[in-house]
Amino acid sequence: MNIKELDKEYIAPTYARFPLTLVEGKGSLVYDDEGKEYIDMSTGIAVNTFGYSDAQWAGAVSAQLTKIQHTSNLYYSEPCARLAEQLCTRTGMKKVFFSNSGAEANECAIKVARKYAADKKGADYHVIVSLKNSFHGRTLTTLAATGQDTFHTDFTPLTPGFAYAEANNLDSVKQLLAENKVAGIIMEMVQGEGGVCPLTAEFVRGVEALAKEQDIVLIIDEVQTGNGRCGSLYAYMNFGISPDVVSTAKGLAGGLPLGATMLSEKVQNTLTAGLHGSTFGGNPVSCAGALNILGRIDDELLAGVRRKSEYLFSELNKIEGIHDVTGMGLMIGFATDVPAADYIAKCMEAGLLVIKAKNKIRLLPALNIPDSMLKKAVSIMREAAKI
Ligand SMILES: *Cc1c(COP(=O)(O)O)cnc(C)c1O
Repeated sequence: MNIKELDKEYIAPTYARFPLTLVEGKGSLVYDDEGKEYIDMSTGIAVNTFGYSDAQWAGAVSAQLTKIQHTSNLYYSEPCARLAEQLCTRTGMKKVFFSNSGAEANECAIKVARKYAADKKGADYHVIVSLKNSFHGRTLTTLAATGQDTFHTDFTPLTPGFAYAEANNLDSVKQLLAENKVAGIIMEMVQGEGGVCPLTAEFVRGVEALAKEQDIVLIIDEVQTGNGRCGSLYAYMNFGISPDVVSTAKGLAGGLPLGATMLSEKVQNTLTAGLHGSTFGGNPVSCAGALNILGRIDDELLAGVRRKSEYLFSELNKIEGIHDVTGMGLMIGFATDVPAADYIAKCMEAGLLVIKAKNKIRLLPALNIPDSMLKKAVSIMREAAKI
């Protein structure tokens, strides 16, 4: 059997895959099993921060791999401690809990909010307010946090204690805070899976003020928006707020599984020994990869992300057949006159990988994608937009 047949036979049918087997890549270029080359603007869904098999990153990862690959959290580990230090010094957060994925990073964030509220106000203060059209993961609790009914069908009962406010509608948040005993509020600065929809600065600051007033734990889900993707180290920094908890994963380790839940001073000691854990969390190889990635997301790189973003926004807005260009940094969505599935297929045919977010096209290129490749990608996207 070939790879596609093996996959169909033995892999649980949870993914609608594109008809493509990717075998190797270098930077922003990736090759399929027939040797065809593609410019990749999907980066494994915002994971391969510096593209495929980046030499510096691979060097850091290999060096750790042949030193010590795993220790368990029963012992101290250098890459893990150094990465936590980096994250804290660059964000002002005080402590980090490491896990393996975005969903787990959010699970930890939700546990922190509930424990903080239980200690401060009593266990009946356990409701988590999230936003409609959000996405926070696939576990039964992060599905409950996800404000999209389509993900909930047939998995009920989900973890109870979630309420959903309208994004960019502060009155809707106020109303839920009045009606419920709320422990935490969780939101993405740009709703990624929801169609690349940014929140307004007014709304974000309004929610922050409400959370501060009522001593509610404000959680920012930076699983997709974080690690330079939106033109600053974390997207919340673009809004000038100070969250209580920040969760991240996807691009953090540049292609290896790693989740991080960053805790501000207010909640830094909320989870004490024995209250949370993860066997693989903070894996030294993943942390070594993340140390390399984070060290390279400096002011110069971020300025490049913002410049490339401006270029894409300005070019996309000029293309006939493309509209509703939204997003932040190198996380961009747009609608097409051509149906999204056809648009993606046309791009693929022409050697460009783009993905969907709801019914929009989503671009998540590597943060260091060369300008020449962006230019080529734009010309393919222009051609594909023609009916
Ligand atoms: C992808 C994503 C998650 C889930 O991350 P996993 O690593 O797949 O568990 C959570 N929140 C947001 C905003 C995401 O984009």
